Amino acid sequence: MSVIFADRALLSDGWAQDVQISIGTEGSITSITQGCDPRGADWRKPLLIPAMPNLHSHAFQRAFAGLAEAATGKSDSFWTWRHHMYAVSEKLTPETNRDIAAALYIDMLKAGYTQVAEFHYIHNHGSKTGTPGEEMARSILIAAQETGIGITLLPTLYETAGFDDTPLESAQKLFALTPDQLMALFDKLNAEGSADSLNKLGFAFHSLRAVRPESLIHISNHAPSGTPIHIHIAEQEGEVDDCIFARKNRPVAWLYDKLDVNKNWCLIHATHISDAERQQIGKSGAIAGLCPTTEANLGDGLFPIVDYLMEGGAFGIGSDSQVTVDPTQELRLLEYGQRLTKERRATTASEKEVHTGARLWRAATTGGAQACGINTGEIAVGKRADFLALDTSHQLLTERNEDTLLDTLVFCGGTNLISDVMVAGNWTIIDRHHALEDVIEQRAIASMKTLLNDK
Ligand SMILES: [Zn+2]
Repeated sequence: MSVIFADRALLSDGWAQDVQISIGTEGSITSITQGCDPRGADWRKPLLIPAMPNLHSHAFQRAFAGLAEAATGKSDSFWTWRHHMYAVSEKLTPETNRDIAAALYIDMLKAGYTQVAEFHYIHNHGSKTGTPGEEMARSILIAAQETGIGITLLPTLYETAGFDDTPLESAQKLFALTPDQLMALFDKLNAEGSADSLNKLGFAFHSLRAVRPESLIHISNHAPSGTPIHIHIAEQEGEVDDCIFARKNRPVAWLYDKLDVNKNWCLIHATHISDAERQQIGKSGAIAGLCPTTEANLGDGLFPIVDYLMEGGAFGIGSDSQVTVDPTQELRLLEYGQRLTKERRATTASEKEVHTGARLWRAATTGGAQACGINTGEIAVGKRADFLALDTSHQLLTERNEDTLLDTLVFCGGTNLISDVMVAGNWTIIDRHHALEDVIEQRAIASMKTLLNDK
Protein backbone atom coordinates (compact mmCIF):
# COMPACT_ATOMS: atom_id res chain seq x y z
CA MET A 1 0.00 0.00 0.00
CA SER A 2 1.12 3.58 -0.59
CA VAL A 3 -0.16 6.98 0.50
CA ILE A 4 -0.24 10.31 -1.32
CA PHE A 5 -0.78 13.57 0.48
CA ALA A 6 -2.28 16.38 -1.62
CA ASP A 7 -2.59 19.97 -0.44
CA ARG A 8 -5.58 20.23 -2.76
CA ALA A 9 -7.41 17.56 -4.74
CA LEU A 10 -10.48 17.35 -6.94
CA LEU A 11 -12.46 14.45 -5.45
CA SER A 12 -15.64 12.98 -6.93
CA ASP A 13 -17.74 15.09 -4.55
CA GLY A 14 -15.77 18.31 -5.00
CA TRP A 15 -12.55 20.08 -4.08
CA ALA A 16 -10.83 19.12 -0.84
CA GLN A 17 -7.80 20.29 1.15
CA ASP A 18 -5.09 18.40 3.01
CA VAL A 19 -6.08 15.03 1.65
CA GLN A 20 -4.49 11.62 2.23
CA ILE A 21 -5.22 9.06 -0.44
CA SER A 22 -4.31 5.42 0.22
CA ILE A 23 -3.74 3.11 -2.72
CA GLY A 24 -3.83 -0.67 -2.50
CA THR A 25 -1.33 -2.97 -4.15
CA GLU A 26 -3.70 -3.59 -7.08
CA GLY A 27 -3.72 0.14 -7.90
CA SER A 28 -7.13 1.23 -6.60
CA ILE A 29 -7.95 3.86 -4.00
CA THR A 30 -8.69 2.22 -0.63
CA SER A 31 -9.34 5.31 1.49
CA ILE A 32 -9.50 9.09 1.32
CA THR A 33 -9.17 11.27 4.41
CA GLN A 34 -9.55 15.03 4.39
CA GLY A 35 -8.09 17.60 6.75
CA CYS A 36 -4.99 15.60 7.71
CA ASP A 37 -1.29 16.41 7.75
CA PRO A 38 1.36 15.01 5.41
CA ARG A 39 3.09 12.80 8.00
CA GLY A 40 3.49 9.19 6.92
CA ALA A 41 2.72 9.86 3.27
CA ASP A 42 5.00 8.39 0.58
CA TRP A 43 4.51 11.40 -1.71
CA ARG A 44 3.31 14.95 -1.31
CA LYS A 45 1.76 16.82 -4.26
CA PRO A 46 0.35 20.35 -4.20
CA LEU A 47 -2.60 19.63 -6.50
CA LEU A 48 -4.18 16.43 -7.82
CA ILE A 49 -6.91 16.07 -10.43
CA PRO A 50 -8.37 12.97 -12.11
CA ALA A 51 -6.49 11.89 -15.25
CA MET A 52 -8.09 11.82 -18.70
CA PRO A 53 -8.97 8.62 -20.58
CA ASN A 54 -8.36 8.83 -24.34
CA LEU A 55 -11.34 7.04 -25.86
CA HIS A 56 -10.24 7.00 -29.49
CA SER A 57 -6.80 6.37 -30.97
CA HIS A 58 -5.31 4.92 -34.15
CA ALA A 59 -1.70 4.79 -32.96
CA PHE A 60 -0.02 4.21 -36.35
CA GLN A 61 -1.48 7.45 -37.74
CA ARG A 62 1.07 9.31 -35.63
CA ALA A 63 3.62 8.35 -38.31
CA PHE A 64 2.18 10.77 -40.89
CA ALA A 65 0.83 13.51 -38.60
CA GLY A 66 1.66 16.79 -40.36
CA LEU A 67 2.32 15.17 -43.73
CA ALA A 68 -1.20 15.52 -45.08
CA GLU A 69 -1.49 19.30 -44.83
CA ALA A 70 -0.41 20.24 -48.38
CA ALA A 71 -3.26 21.04 -50.75
CA THR A 72 -3.74 18.57 -53.59
CA GLY A 73 -6.74 20.25 -55.21
CA LYS A 74 -9.81 22.34 -54.51
CA SER A 75 -11.72 19.51 -52.90
CA ASP A 76 -9.29 18.26 -50.26
CA SER A 77 -11.25 16.31 -47.69
CA PHE A 78 -11.23 13.32 -45.43
CA TRP A 79 -11.06 11.17 -48.55
CA THR A 80 -7.78 12.73 -49.79
CA TRP A 81 -6.30 12.42 -46.27
CA ARG A 82 -7.14 8.72 -46.42
CA HIS A 83 -4.57 8.15 -49.20
CA HIS A 84 -1.78 9.06 -46.76
CA MET A 85 -3.21 6.65 -44.22
CA TYR A 86 -3.26 3.80 -46.73
CA ALA A 87 0.34 4.47 -47.84
CA VAL A 88 1.66 4.14 -44.27
CA SER A 89 -0.59 1.23 -43.32
CA GLU A 90 0.74 -0.81 -46.25
CA LYS A 91 4.30 -0.58 -44.95
CA LEU A 92 3.50 -1.15 -41.29
CA THR A 93 4.92 -4.19 -39.47
CA PRO A 94 4.34 -5.44 -35.94
CA GLU A 95 7.70 -3.91 -34.95
CA THR A 96 7.16 -0.46 -36.49
CA ASN A 97 3.60 -0.41 -35.17
CA ARG A 98 4.89 -1.14 -31.66
CA ASP A 99 7.59 1.53 -31.86
CA ILE A 100 5.32 4.28 -33.18
CA ALA A 101 2.68 3.37 -30.59
CA ALA A 102 5.12 3.28 -27.66
CA ALA A 103 6.49 6.78 -28.38
CA LEU A 104 2.95 8.05 -28.87
CA TYR A 105 1.82 6.51 -25.58
CA ILE A 106 4.61 8.31 -23.72
CA ASP A 107 3.41 11.56 -25.30
CA MET A 108 -0.11 10.68 -24.20
CA LEU A 109 0.99 10.04 -20.62
CA LYS A 110 2.85 13.35 -20.49
CA ALA A 111 -0.30 15.05 -21.80
CA GLY A 112 -2.42 13.54 -19.01
CA TYR A 113 -4.02 10.57 -20.77
CA THR A 114 -3.73 7.41 -18.64
CA GLN A 115 -5.88 4.98 -20.64
CA VAL A 116 -6.14 4.68 -24.39
CA ALA A 117 -8.87 2.97 -26.39
CA GLU A 118 -7.07 1.70 -29.46
CA PHE A 119 -9.47 1.36 -32.39
CA HIS A 120 -7.30 -1.23 -34.05
CA TYR A 121 -8.04 -2.24 -37.65
CA ILE A 122 -4.70 -3.13 -39.28
CA HIS A 123 -4.73 -6.86 -38.74
CA ASN A 124 -2.96 -8.56 -41.62
CA HIS A 125 0.73 -7.86 -41.23
CA GLY A 126 3.14 -10.23 -39.55
CA SER A 127 2.96 -14.00 -39.22
CA LYS A 128 0.56 -15.84 -41.51
CA THR A 129 0.24 -18.69 -39.04
CA GLY A 130 -1.62 -18.75 -35.74
CA THR A 131 -4.69 -16.68 -34.94
CA PRO A 132 -5.22 -14.08 -37.69
CA GLY A 133 -4.57 -10.56 -36.45
CA GLU A 134 -2.85 -11.69 -33.27
CA GLU A 135 0.62 -10.36 -34.01
CA MET A 136 -0.52 -6.83 -34.82
CA ALA A 137 -2.83 -6.79 -31.79
CA ARG A 138 0.01 -7.88 -29.55
CA SER A 139 2.28 -5.14 -30.90
CA ILE A 140 -0.17 -2.60 -29.46
CA LEU A 141 -0.46 -4.43 -26.13
CA ILE A 142 3.35 -4.58 -25.85
CA ALA A 143 3.65 -0.82 -26.51
CA ALA A 144 1.12 -0.11 -23.77
CA GLN A 145 2.79 -2.46 -21.33
CA GLU A 146 6.24 -0.97 -21.98
CA THR A 147 5.06 2.55 -21.26
CA GLY A 148 2.65 1.86 -18.39
CA ILE A 149 -0.45 3.37 -20.01
CA GLY A 150 -3.72 1.47 -19.58
CA ILE A 151 -5.13 0.06 -22.81
CA THR A 152 -8.59 -0.77 -24.03
CA LEU A 153 -7.88 -2.78 -27.17
CA LEU A 154 -10.72 -2.75 -29.68
CA PRO A 155 -10.09 -5.24 -32.51
CA THR A 156 -12.11 -3.76 -35.36
CA LEU A 157 -14.30 -5.32 -38.02
CA TYR A 158 -13.79 -3.99 -41.55
CA GLU A 159 -15.53 -6.00 -44.25
CA THR A 160 -16.66 -3.81 -47.15
CA ALA A 161 -15.62 -0.63 -48.97
CA GLY A 162 -19.13 0.81 -48.98
CA PHE A 163 -22.79 0.18 -48.22
CA ASP A 164 -24.33 -2.79 -50.01
CA ASP A 165 -21.28 -5.02 -49.99
CA THR A 166 -18.89 -3.01 -52.16
CA PRO A 167 -15.74 -5.22 -52.23
CA LEU A 168 -12.66 -4.01 -50.37
CA GLU A 169 -10.11 -1.96 -52.30
CA SER A 170 -6.65 -3.54 -52.37
CA ALA A 171 -5.24 -1.26 -49.61
CA GLN A 172 -8.18 -2.16 -47.38
CA LYS A 173 -7.42 -5.90 -47.48
CA LEU A 174 -4.97 -5.32 -44.62
CA PHE A 175 -7.97 -4.45 -42.47
CA ALA A 176 -10.06 -7.51 -43.28
CA LEU A 177 -10.90 -10.20 -40.76
CA THR A 178 -14.10 -12.21 -40.98
CA PRO A 179 -16.50 -11.88 -38.04
CA ASP A 180 -15.47 -15.38 -36.91
CA GLN A 181 -11.77 -14.48 -37.09
CA LEU A 182 -12.39 -11.29 -35.11
CA MET A 183 -14.30 -13.18 -32.43
CA ALA A 184 -11.54 -15.84 -32.31
CA LEU A 185 -8.95 -13.08 -31.79
CA PHE A 186 -11.09 -11.54 -29.04
CA ASP A 187 -11.61 -14.91 -27.35
CA LYS A 188 -7.90 -15.76 -27.47
CA LEU A 189 -6.81 -12.47 -25.93
CA ASN A 190 -9.70 -12.49 -23.49
CA ALA A 191 -8.89 -15.98 -22.24
CA GLU A 192 -5.43 -14.78 -21.17
CA GLY A 193 -7.06 -12.26 -18.87
CA SER A 194 -4.92 -9.63 -17.28
CA ALA A 195 -2.95 -9.63 -14.08
CA ASP A 196 -3.71 -5.97 -13.47
CA SER A 197 -6.47 -3.43 -14.03
CA LEU A 198 -4.73 -1.80 -16.98
CA ASN A 199 -6.02 -3.94 -19.84
CA LYS A 200 -9.54 -4.11 -21.18
CA LEU A 201 -10.76 -5.79 -24.33
CA GLY A 202 -13.65 -4.70 -26.50
CA PHE A 203 -14.87 -4.65 -30.08
CA ALA A 204 -15.11 -1.96 -32.70
CA PHE A 205 -16.98 -1.73 -35.98
CA HIS A 206 -15.13 0.45 -38.41
CA SER A 207 -18.29 2.17 -39.68
CA LEU A 208 -21.69 1.30 -41.09
CA ARG A 209 -20.27 1.50 -44.61
CA ALA A 210 -17.55 -1.07 -43.76
CA VAL A 211 -19.59 -3.65 -41.83
CA ARG A 212 -22.49 -5.84 -42.92
CA PRO A 213 -25.66 -5.51 -40.82
CA GLU A 214 -25.74 -9.21 -39.95
CA SER A 215 -22.10 -9.09 -38.73
CA LEU A 216 -22.84 -6.10 -36.52
CA ILE A 217 -25.68 -7.95 -34.86
CA HIS A 218 -23.76 -11.25 -34.62
CA ILE A 219 -20.69 -9.74 -32.93
CA SER A 220 -22.72 -7.49 -30.62
CA ASN A 221 -24.53 -10.60 -29.40
CA HIS A 222 -21.21 -12.44 -28.93
CA ALA A 223 -19.66 -9.72 -26.74
CA PRO A 224 -19.70 -10.64 -23.03
CA SER A 225 -21.75 -8.25 -20.91
CA GLY A 226 -19.89 -5.04 -20.08
CA THR A 227 -17.70 -5.22 -23.20
CA PRO A 228 -17.01 -1.79 -24.72
CA ILE A 229 -18.27 -1.52 -28.32
CA HIS A 230 -17.18 1.42 -30.47
CA ILE A 231 -18.12 2.55 -33.98
CA HIS A 232 -17.24 5.50 -36.25
CA ILE A 233 -20.57 7.01 -37.19
CA ALA A 234 -21.99 9.99 -39.11
CA GLU A 235 -18.55 11.59 -39.49
CA GLN A 236 -19.07 12.77 -43.07
CA GLU A 237 -22.21 14.12 -44.73
CA GLY A 238 -21.51 11.99 -47.80
CA GLU A 239 -21.62 8.89 -45.64
CA VAL A 240 -24.93 9.96 -44.10
CA ASP A 241 -26.40 10.41 -47.59
CA ASP A 242 -25.13 6.98 -48.67
CA CYS A 243 -26.67 5.42 -45.57
CA ILE A 244 -30.04 7.06 -46.22
CA PHE A 245 -29.89 5.78 -49.79
CA ALA A 246 -28.83 2.22 -48.91
CA ARG A 247 -30.50 1.68 -45.54
CA LYS A 248 -33.41 4.10 -45.82
CA ASN A 249 -32.45 5.73 -42.54
CA ARG A 250 -29.87 8.05 -41.01
CA PRO A 251 -26.84 6.20 -39.49
CA VAL A 252 -27.49 6.74 -35.78
CA ALA A 253 -31.23 6.14 -36.16
CA TRP A 254 -30.51 2.95 -38.12
CA LEU A 255 -28.10 1.68 -35.42
CA TYR A 256 -30.58 2.29 -32.60
CA ASP A 257 -33.31 0.63 -34.62
CA LYS A 258 -31.27 -2.56 -35.11
CA LEU A 259 -29.39 -2.92 -31.82
CA ASP A 260 -29.63 -2.33 -28.10
CA VAL A 261 -27.24 0.63 -27.99
CA ASN A 262 -26.55 1.14 -24.29
CA LYS A 263 -23.87 2.34 -21.86
CA ASN A 264 -21.30 -0.08 -23.29
CA TRP A 265 -21.38 1.76 -26.60
CA CYS A 266 -19.28 4.67 -27.77
CA LEU A 267 -20.32 6.48 -30.94
CA ILE A 268 -17.21 8.04 -32.42
CA HIS A 269 -17.73 11.48 -34.00
CA ALA A 270 -21.56 11.37 -34.49
CA THR A 271 -21.02 14.76 -36.11
CA HIS A 272 -23.95 14.89 -38.52
CA ILE A 273 -26.99 13.92 -36.48
CA SER A 274 -30.59 15.07 -36.39
CA ASP A 275 -32.20 16.44 -33.21
CA ALA A 276 -33.95 13.11 -32.70
CA GLU A 277 -30.67 11.17 -33.08
CA ARG A 278 -28.91 13.50 -30.65
CA GLN A 279 -31.64 12.92 -28.06
CA GLN A 280 -31.52 9.18 -28.69
CA ILE A 281 -27.79 9.02 -27.93
CA GLY A 282 -28.20 11.10 -24.78
CA LYS A 283 -31.08 9.00 -23.44
CA SER A 284 -29.38 5.67 -24.12
CA GLY A 285 -26.41 6.44 -21.85
CA ALA A 286 -23.97 5.70 -24.70
CA ILE A 287 -20.93 7.95 -24.93
CA ALA A 288 -20.38 10.40 -27.77
CA GLY A 289 -16.68 9.95 -28.59
CA LEU A 290 -15.52 13.37 -29.74
CA CYS A 291 -12.15 14.12 -31.32
CA PRO A 292 -12.37 17.87 -31.97
CA THR A 293 -8.83 18.47 -33.29
CA THR A 294 -9.04 15.56 -35.75
CA GLU A 295 -12.58 16.52 -36.75
CA ALA A 296 -11.30 20.06 -37.39
CA ASN A 297 -8.23 18.78 -39.22
CA LEU A 298 -10.33 16.60 -41.52
CA GLY A 299 -12.99 19.24 -42.09
CA ASP A 300 -15.74 17.03 -40.63
CA GLY A 301 -17.96 19.55 -38.89
CA LEU A 302 -19.06 20.39 -35.33
CA PHE A 303 -20.83 18.03 -32.96
CA PRO A 304 -23.90 19.72 -31.37
CA ILE A 305 -22.36 19.67 -27.89
CA VAL A 306 -24.41 22.51 -26.36
CA ASP A 307 -27.84 20.92 -26.88
CA TYR A 308 -26.41 17.46 -26.15
CA LEU A 309 -25.07 18.50 -22.74
CA MET A 310 -28.25 20.39 -21.91
CA GLU A 311 -30.17 17.15 -22.49
CA GLY A 312 -27.84 15.21 -20.17
CA GLY A 313 -25.74 13.50 -22.86
CA ALA A 314 -22.38 11.98 -21.89
CA PHE A 315 -19.17 12.37 -23.86
CA GLY A 316 -15.43 11.75 -23.78
CA ILE A 317 -12.53 12.78 -25.98
CA GLY A 318 -9.98 11.06 -28.18
CA SER A 319 -6.78 11.93 -30.02
CA ASP A 320 -7.87 9.86 -33.07
CA SER A 321 -5.46 10.75 -35.92
CA GLN A 322 -2.82 12.06 -33.45
CA VAL A 323 -2.42 15.47 -35.12
CA THR A 324 -2.77 16.71 -31.54
CA VAL A 325 -2.06 14.71 -28.40
CA ASP A 326 -3.40 17.01 -25.72
CA PRO A 327 -6.74 16.70 -23.90
CA THR A 328 -6.80 20.41 -23.06
CA GLN A 329 -6.74 21.30 -26.77
CA GLU A 330 -9.55 18.86 -27.49
CA LEU A 331 -11.77 20.43 -24.83
CA ARG A 332 -10.77 23.97 -25.77
CA LEU A 333 -11.71 23.40 -29.40
CA LEU A 334 -14.96 21.70 -28.40
CA GLU A 335 -15.98 24.94 -26.67
CA TYR A 336 -14.40 27.36 -29.17
CA GLY A 337 -16.18 25.79 -32.15
CA GLN A 338 -19.45 26.73 -30.47
CA ARG A 339 -18.26 30.23 -29.46
CA LEU A 340 -17.26 30.99 -33.03
CA THR A 341 -20.54 29.85 -34.53
CA LYS A 342 -22.90 31.10 -31.79
CA GLU A 343 -20.98 34.35 -31.16
CA ARG A 344 -21.16 34.04 -27.39
CA ARG A 345 -18.95 32.72 -24.56
CA ALA A 346 -19.09 29.85 -22.04
CA THR A 347 -21.47 27.89 -24.26
CA THR A 348 -21.05 24.52 -22.53
CA ALA A 349 -21.36 25.84 -18.97
CA SER A 350 -24.56 25.15 -17.09
CA GLU A 351 -26.40 26.89 -14.25
CA LYS A 352 -25.01 24.31 -11.84
CA GLU A 353 -21.52 24.20 -13.34
CA VAL A 354 -20.61 27.69 -14.47
CA HIS A 355 -16.91 27.01 -15.01
CA THR A 356 -16.63 25.88 -18.61
CA GLY A 357 -13.20 24.23 -18.50
CA ALA A 358 -13.92 22.50 -15.18
CA ARG A 359 -17.26 21.20 -16.42
CA LEU A 360 -15.76 19.81 -19.61
CA TRP A 361 -12.83 18.19 -17.76
CA ARG A 362 -15.10 16.45 -15.25
CA ALA A 363 -17.53 15.25 -17.91
CA ALA A 364 -14.80 13.96 -20.23
CA THR A 365 -12.93 12.05 -17.50
CA THR A 366 -16.03 10.13 -16.36
CA GLY A 367 -17.40 9.69 -19.89
CA GLY A 368 -14.01 8.57 -21.18
CA ALA A 369 -13.66 5.98 -18.40
CA GLN A 370 -17.10 4.57 -19.22
CA ALA A 371 -16.24 4.31 -22.92
CA CYS A 372 -12.94 2.56 -22.10
CA GLY A 373 -14.72 0.15 -19.75
CA ILE A 374 -12.50 0.97 -16.78
CA ASN A 375 -13.25 1.98 -13.22
CA THR A 376 -11.57 5.38 -13.02
CA GLY A 377 -12.24 8.96 -14.16
CA GLU A 378 -12.82 10.30 -10.63
CA ILE A 379 -10.83 10.38 -7.41
CA ALA A 380 -12.99 8.22 -5.12
CA VAL A 381 -12.65 5.09 -2.99
CA GLY A 382 -12.73 1.98 -5.19
CA LYS A 383 -11.62 3.80 -8.35
CA ARG A 384 -8.31 3.07 -10.06
CA ALA A 385 -5.69 5.56 -8.88
CA ASP A 386 -5.14 7.65 -12.04
CA PHE A 387 -4.08 11.19 -11.16
CA LEU A 388 -2.38 14.21 -12.63
CA ALA A 389 -0.26 16.41 -10.37
CA LEU A 390 -0.29 20.02 -11.55
CA ASP A 391 2.68 22.33 -11.18
CA THR A 392 1.36 25.04 -8.89
CA SER A 393 4.71 26.84 -8.95
CA HIS A 394 3.89 27.88 -12.52
CA GLN A 395 2.94 31.56 -12.72
CA LEU A 396 -0.22 30.71 -14.62
CA LEU A 397 -1.67 28.85 -11.65
CA THR A 398 -1.00 31.69 -9.19
CA GLU A 399 -4.10 32.81 -7.30
CA ARG A 400 -6.24 30.20 -9.04
CA ASN A 401 -8.51 28.14 -6.87
CA GLU A 402 -10.71 25.15 -7.38
CA ASP A 403 -12.56 25.33 -10.69
CA THR A 404 -10.56 28.31 -11.97
CA LEU A 405 -7.52 26.00 -11.83
CA LEU A 406 -9.20 23.66 -14.31
CA ASP A 407 -10.43 26.56 -16.44
CA THR A 408 -6.83 27.79 -16.63
CA LEU A 409 -5.52 24.33 -17.45
CA VAL A 410 -8.05 23.83 -20.26
CA PHE A 411 -8.05 27.29 -21.84
CA CYS A 412 -4.64 28.79 -21.13
CA GLY A 413 -2.04 26.46 -19.75
CA GLY A 414 -2.19 23.18 -21.52
CA THR A 415 -0.24 20.11 -20.66
CA ASN A 416 2.96 21.96 -19.67
CA LEU A 417 1.19 22.49 -16.32
CA ILE A 418 1.19 18.72 -15.68
CA SER A 419 4.27 17.61 -13.74
CA ASP A 420 3.52 14.02 -12.70
CA VAL A 421 1.17 11.32 -13.90
CA MET A 422 0.02 8.26 -11.95
CA VAL A 423 -1.56 5.21 -13.58
CA ALA A 424 -3.07 2.59 -11.24
CA GLY A 425 -0.85 3.65 -8.35
CA ASN A 426 2.40 3.94 -10.37
CA TRP A 427 4.03 7.23 -11.27
CA THR A 428 4.66 6.83 -15.01
CA ILE A 429 5.67 10.46 -15.50
CA ILE A 430 7.85 12.11 -12.86
CA ASP A 431 8.76 15.76 -13.24
CA ARG A 432 7.63 15.66 -16.91
CA HIS A 433 9.83 12.65 -17.79
CA HIS A 434 9.22 8.97 -18.54
CA ALA A 435 11.96 6.52 -17.53
CA LEU A 436 12.15 4.98 -21.05
CA GLU A 437 11.58 8.09 -23.14
CA ASP A 438 15.06 8.26 -24.72
CA VAL A 439 15.26 4.65 -25.87
CA ILE A 440 11.64 4.57 -27.07
CA GLU A 441 12.07 7.87 -28.92
CA GLN A 442 15.09 6.49 -30.81
CA ARG A 443 13.19 3.34 -31.77
CA ALA A 444 10.26 5.43 -33.03
CA ILE A 445 12.56 7.61 -35.14
CA ALA A 446 14.09 4.53 -36.78
CA SER A 447 10.65 3.05 -37.45
CA MET A 448 9.33 6.31 -38.83
CA LYS A 449 12.24 6.47 -41.27
CA THR A 450 11.41 2.96 -42.46
CA LEU A 451 7.73 3.80 -42.91
CA LEU A 452 8.19 7.14 -44.64
CA ASN A 453 11.22 6.46 -46.81
CA ASP A 454 10.00 6.08 -50.40
CA LYS A 455 12.99 4.05 -51.59
ZN1 LIG B 1 -11.04 7.14 -35.88
